[in-house]
Amino acid sequence: MAVYLHEEDLPEGVLAPGPVAVDTETMGLITPRDRLCLVQISDGKGDEHLVRFAAGSTFDAPNLKAVLADPSREKLYHFARFDLAAIEHYLGVVAAPVFCTKIASKLVRTYTDRHGLKDLVRELLGKEISKQQQSSDWGASELNEAQREYAASDVRYLHAMRDILAVRLQREGRTDLAQACFDFLPARARLDLEGWPEHDIFSHMSA
Ligand code: MN
Repeated sequence: MAVYLHEEDLPEGVLAPGPVAVDTETMGLITPRDRLCLVQISDGKGDEHLVRFAAGSTFDAPNLKAVLADPSREKLYHFARFDLAAIEHYLGVVAAPVFCTKIASKLVRTYTDRHGLKDLVRELLGKEISKQQQSSDWGASELNEAQREYAASDVRYLHAMRDILAVRLQREGRTDLAQACFDFLPARARLDLEGWPEHDIFSHMSA
């Protein structure tokens, strides 16, 4: 169980086959303005890999892109919409197929409106994660220990949560609906990037 920090790309062969948990850290919430600083990735076996991109990076990361674009590898996210947009904008790949624990949570945990990662990890797994470094300077040339641990913890529990949420989706008869939502997420991310960020194009409202 270790956290590995890599510069500009993932080394070849560090991930076991199968689904990977993915998260990103950026300079902010406006994707085209706020550069991608870090991609975290884990195969769920206990290690987390952090790939840091420096200011002025060309985002030439063939190993990371190959994993993200691999159609045979499911990508697990919490709020995939944001990560998919950042990855598509900066790395130029659509990181699908998708399982989003936030969407799954909204479809089964209808008894609460608390769908943040911290709340979900606490309820489903009984573990505590810190969100203290969420809005720290991810563009710094050296990431401190607290940032590395925070970044790693964001992908540490996604496999376990996917398994629990998949059972709950099945129980509530919403597996197919969830899958349809996951399949739509790359298009939702494209809408964000192409000018419809908060606009619901399915709404009856014409504005
Ligand atoms: Mn994160």
